[in-house]
Amino acid sequence: MQFYSSLMLYLSSINLFMHNLFDDFKHKGLRKKLVEELALKGITDKAILDAIGKIPRHWFMDAAFLKFAYDDKAFPIAAGQTISQPYTVAFQTELLQVKKGDKILEIGTGSGYQTCVLLELGAKAFTIERQKQLYDKTKAFLPSIGYNPRFFYGDGYKGLPAFAPFDKIIVTAGAPYLPEDLIAQLKPGGIIVIPLGENEQIMTTFTKQHDGTLLKKEHGMFRFVPLLKDKQQ
Ligand code: SAH
Repeated sequence: MQFYSSLMLYLSSINLFMHNLFDDFKHKGLRKKLVEELALKGITDKAILDAIGKIPRHWFMDAAFLKFAYDDKAFPIAAGQTISQPYTVAFQTELLQVKKGDKILEIGTGSGYQTCVLLELGAKAFTIERQKQLYDKTKAFLPSIGYNPRFFYGDGYKGLPAFAPFDKIIVTAGAPYLPEDLIAQLKPGGIIVIPLGENEQIMTTFTKQHDGTLLKKEHGMFRFVPLLKDKQQ
């Protein structure tokens, strides 16, 4: 009896696995359309468009929501969080001006989709998530599809002092203010892209000058889930 139920559990997990990790001409066609849509909306960086054209976004969502995977919209994932809108992912990545070999800190791993875009661009990615359930899920999932960032369970407000400094930092949740710890962990010449604000956020970049001062630029309004304090079990 016990053997039978473990066998059924095993078979259903294989079924789920295969269903989720299927990527056929239909998905590829939808992705191509999404890439065209992002180009029309003003994303020009070819490497970023190629990354979005390559990564099967539907694998990052529950199989039941397959048809939403290639809409240019944010979508709920586990633990009340969202996978960012593809345009937002592309736009934030463009602002980061990623170069091959850049050491990048990402705050808010979530589904890991943004992390995969950074890895596709040849960056070394260090990613922090505060929700244990999401951290565990994404830490198991990304390597299973060939993406290997360094995963950390912790509070992104504090960054990763032990691994600093970073060439770039990307914050993928709405921050009420610019955390000082993150600025301290940015190399001179480095860029941080952070959506700043409570209900709505202004996409903001700060470039750290060689004398330590910050050059601030604003890039329009966005809406993110909030950057929350401390870890959550
Ligand atoms: N980059 C993600 C976006 C996820 S939404 C993606 O592509 O799917 C933002 C994520 O930030 C959520 O998973 C949320 O749990 C996480 N988060 C919020 N506050 C945080 C903090 N202080 N430290 C680390 N992660 C945080």
